[in-house]
Amino acid sequence: KAKSNGGNNLQVFNPVMYSNSQKKLLMENALRKSIENNELLLFYQPQINTRTGQLVGVEALVRWKHPQLGLVGPEEFIPLSEETGIIIPIGEWVLREACRQNKQWQEAGYPPIKVSVNLSGKQFSQELVDQVNQILTETGLAPEFLDLEITESMMMDANHSIRILNELHEVGIQISIDDFGTGYSSLSYLKSFSINRLKIDRSFIKDITKNTSDANIVDTIITMAHKLGLIVIAEGVESVEQLEFLISNHCDECQGFLYSEPVTSMQFENKFFRNNNSKSTSNIHG
Ligand code: C2E
Ligand code: MG
Ligand code: MG
Ligand code: MG
Repeated sequence: KAKSNGGNNLQVFNPVMYSNSQKKLLMENALRKSIENNELLLFYQPQINTRTGQLVGVEALVRWKHPQLGLVGPEEFIPLSEETGIIIPIGEWVLREACRQNKQWQEAGYPPIKVSVNLSGKQFSQELVDQVNQILTETGLAPEFLDLEITESMMMDANHSIRILNELHEVGIQISIDDFGTGYSSLSYLKSFSINRLKIDRSFIKDITKNTSDANIVDTIITMAHKLGLIVIAEGVESVEQLEFLISNHCDECQGFLYSEPVTSMQFENKFFRNNNSKSTSNIHG
């Protein structure tokens, strides 16, 4: 069907002309070239200290800017990247770029913050430790300013995972559990001293002010985390009412559209470093 179309770039991603498997193959080939073609970029979303309103961190979120497809979000290409193994070079690129950018901000004289990088299960192996070490040396970023976000599903093989976590912990980087509460793993890994932070999944935050069960779950997660000596961050905070709930329940950090959507590095710099951030967020706090 699509044979006669060879060479016509504009038609390449026309959904009508290709079967799903053909589309996948085209997508895979384009993804393989995305790094060398400089098509990957990171967006940044602020993480705020709930009590003080201060900027404490930033999450790096990958985007793929394809000449025909436009700006593609991670939900649309991370699964295929994982399936094909392309996540390994992409993940390495993300780590390096996030560390490089954070170091650059520090060198510009902005107050130092941590950068959070999402890891895929495929990356969560013994080689990761060497890779992280090499990237930290290369970029000059101090390990305490790197936070790795892993998910509960990566903790399914607890013995294996805890060994990697301990090694990363020894390097001095921080570890956060992303989308906390949505996985199927047991809670036993929380006894591992290598975890610094729980990131409450946004599905629990969504109806926090309307749904008593969600409110109780979030309250309980915060209490449990604090008893274990962990920091808690809420994701998907969109309203002042949600923020107020989180303040009164002693959630340590917040992230969400209330403060900002993920933005480019330049926008982030202008919005959160150039104009005094504590001023702009104290407005939100009233
Ligand atoms: P995540 O790590 O849980 O990231 C949060 C996602 O929620 C982001 O979507 C962000 O834009 C969105 N979000 C943030 N605040 C709000 C809010 O207040 N309301 C709503 N409705 N959404 C909000 P994004 O950037 O599309 O990323 C989606 C997922 O893709 C991420 O979920 C993460 O699991 C994955 N991802 C992103 N970057 C990378 C990466 O570099 N490597 C890997 N392996 N996965 C990544
Ligand atoms: Mg994340
Ligand atoms: Mg999340
Ligand atoms: Mg996630």
